Amino acid sequence: MENQKVTLSEMPTGSNCVIVRLSGHGGFRHRLMELGFVRGEKVRVVKNAPLLDPIEYEIMQGHVSLRRIEAQHIEVVPVTEEVAQNYTFNGTLTEEVTRIMGEKAKTITVALVGNPNCGKTSFFNHATGMREKVGNYSGVTVDSKLGVFKHRDYTFNFVDLPGTYSLTEYSPEELYVRKYIFENHPDVVLNIVDASNLERNLFLTTQLIDMNVPMVMGLNMYDELEKNGDQLDIQALSTMFGFPIIPTVSSKGKGIDKVLDSIINVYENLDGVTKHIHINYGADIEKSIDLVKNEVKKDNVLSSEFPARYVAIKLLENDKVTIEEVSKLQNTDNIRKVAKEQCAELERTYKEDAATVISGAKYGFIRGALQETYTIGKDRSKQRAYTVDNLLTNRWLGFPILIFFLWLMFQMTFTLGAYPQQWLEMFFGWLGGMCEMVLPDGIIKALLVDGVIAGVGSVFSFLPNILILFFFISILEDTGYMARAAFLMDKLMHKMGLHGKSFIPYIIGFGCSVPAIMATRTLENRKDRILTIITVPFMSCSARIPVYMLLISAFFTKYKGLVLMSIYLLGVVAAIITSLIVKKISFKNQSDQFVMELPPYRIPTLRNALVHMWDKSVQYVKKMGTVILLATVIIWVLEYFPQHSAQLDGYTARMEQVEADPTLTPAEKEAQLKTLEFDRTVCQSENSYIAKIGKFVAPVFRPLGFDWKMSVSLLTGVAAKEIVVSSMGVLYHADLDADENSSTLQSSLKAQKWTEGKEKGQPVFTPLVAYGYMIFILLYFPCVAALSAVFREGGRKWGLFSILYNTSVAWLAAFLIHTIGMLL
Ligand code: GDP
Ligand code: MG
Repeated sequence: MENQKVTLSEMPTGSNCVIVRLSGHGGFRHRLMELGFVRGEKVRVVKNAPLLDPIEYEIMQGHVSLRRIEAQHIEVVPVTEEVAQNYTFNGTLTEEVTRIMGEKAKTITVALVGNPNCGKTSFFNHATGMREKVGNYSGVTVDSKLGVFKHRDYTFNFVDLPGTYSLTEYSPEELYVRKYIFENHPDVVLNIVDASNLERNLFLTTQLIDMNVPMVMGLNMYDELEKNGDQLDIQALSTMFGFPIIPTVSSKGKGIDKVLDSIINVYENLDGVTKHIHINYGADIEKSIDLVKNEVKKDNVLSSEFPARYVAIKLLENDKVTIEEVSKLQNTDNIRKVAKEQCAELERTYKEDAATVISGAKYGFIRGALQETYTIGKDRSKQRAYTVDNLLTNRWLGFPILIFFLWLMFQMTFTLGAYPQQWLEMFFGWLGGMCEMVLPDGIIKALLVDGVIAGVGSVFSFLPNILILFFFISILEDTGYMARAAFLMDKLMHKMGLHGKSFIPYIIGFGCSVPAIMATRTLENRKDRILTIITVPFMSCSARIPVYMLLISAFFTKYKGLVLMSIYLLGVVAAIITSLIVKKISFKNQSDQFVMELPPYRIPTLRNALVHMWDKSVQYVKKMGTVILLATVIIWVLEYFPQHSAQLDGYTARMEQVEADPTLTPAEKEAQLKTLEFDRTVCQSENSYIAKIGKFVAPVFRPLGFDWKMSVSLLTGVAAKEIVVSSMGVLYHADLDADENSSTLQSSLKAQKWTEGKEKGQPVFTPLVAYGYMIFILLYFPCVAALSAVFREGGRKWGLFSILYNTSVAWLAAFLIHTIGMLL
């Protein structure tokens, strides 16, 4: 029997070999497999100079270079040149190679990892037939026991490791287990957990998940769990964690064969459950992890030995062993600098060291997983302490509490926001007036006053509402309540084909779609993410509020609140229907279960809330300074020009005549000049470039009851939906009779009449038209900022989908409203 282990790195130049197995963490093995290094594949060494990196190989008719440290992770069987010549992919191997390959490939090394006293040694003894001492004490010596046995036609090398509660570095046992896993690369880690004490036992499991090792879980002491009358949805837990879970009673030898079968399946990549999951540590920690991870990834040596994410987490935990590991690298200074910065940042945020925050998040993950799958027995549940969590996630009380918080949030947004909003409006009014007085007449003044100040001002005044909304959202997130809300919504969201966690992006979506679409990153699976991304824009964002405010206060006297609410609800309904349809068509058979973390409750600090509020608002402010400003200027230009035409010059000439006419009294002169001026403005705007564009697209919107100015405003709203209002301000000349009353745009909207067609002389705006218009604005395609977020996060296909689908839905909805409304 060939017992010597040969790795690819030892093969000399010109030799041939066949791959037996890959070792290392999941991400690394995956990369090797992508390069073609899979079991049974033949490799030829093109160039291997001792001590020189990299080594060049020929595999699958292609040339690939591997670094020595990578090639050390590939175990091979050498073959002769003759065998290599006759070797085809499907493996017409010589008998000899088949035999060696078979033996090698059918040897599985399994490491037993678990808390003290969870039954590892009992499992080991039953599986191996050995008689290791079983007992209720933790080992004095730090040692491992090896047992070899056969199961089916596989040889198992079982290693019984010392029991540990964790894989940090507090005890020699912990260090020993960690070192063993990373240095010996067991093919499968068998995590034994005590089913009667799940919460504590699973902590170790979360660390194994971070290490990205192939895993099977033995759910031991299952007899105790049953005796207690507890219930556990093992299948659900297994899909959530991404590895097989098998119930066992190892003291009686029950379930051991099933575990061994399962280990074979994982080893042979035949089991359907295995996938690598990430424990979500929450936005702040994830951000820090990413930053450190990117630094770590710059160094190839380390990331072939350890998963970069794991190293990042360990560095944030200030783990000495990992710091030492990192200190051997070239990039060490940068890595440690970034890690230090992030540690400090997290400490400032949470007022606790990062390690504590990370374990808190791990317990949040465990609590979330158990909340969904684990029911404590009736007798025992009575004894259970009454916790806030039980109240907030209670099936009956939870919803009213949630609705109350949401109501409070929106209420505050509008009532508190109203004051600074008025001040800002006053300020921009004053600024416009000042410019009007100070600047000389001409194009610059017109641009500043009617374009920039009017346009940006009308939008800027909604900033306080948005800040307040984001402030509340941040507080709800920081306390940990948002996670409970997501938990509560999970069942309901599942009916929509979505995940409870989608609830958070939806709530943020009421503020602005851009951060909401970013927030979908916390959703692990693509289906949920895509469905959420494409439906978030239906949540009526705060940019649309100005439009609603304008039209509702102008055209609805009664039931204003109800009208507003119906619009928001319609958006939600559109989201539900869309998600159901898209799920049916595009994601037919994908239902995945994920852990919904229940992070620890925290008292939010003002600093955090402000920081988070600012992070979220920055997008909005940027949009204001760039897209909106630019769009306003463009619209203004298109609207202001051309300034000369036969007709317009005619008006100017007549105004000059009147001015020079000595027979008129000053009052008559002024009155005549005013009418002429007004007529000239109307004539100018009806013939401006933007009018030409608007009239061109108007037929499309005519069935919805919109005139060309409304159509143009819709087009401009593509830049940002707030711009609809500023465009209307420019197009309907809100400033014409500015001296009469303050809500000028409203009154000029009311005064609009059709100038042609069968409705000539009738008002353009009716409550029906206004409502249809608002619905169109609610549904039609997202603004450029949101759209670019959809493209970035969801890909081109879904970006295009958003454009076409949303616009069609908007048109259809507005058409139905108009047509049915006209009939009634
Ligand atoms: P280790 O510390 O993880 O190696 O755990 P041991 O195998 O030494 O077991 C600790 C104690 O738990 C012993 O008294 C075992 O008999 C007992 N035990 C092990 N497995 C089970 C089980 O599945 N059910 C029950 N009820 N007891 C078990
Ligand atoms: Mg033991």
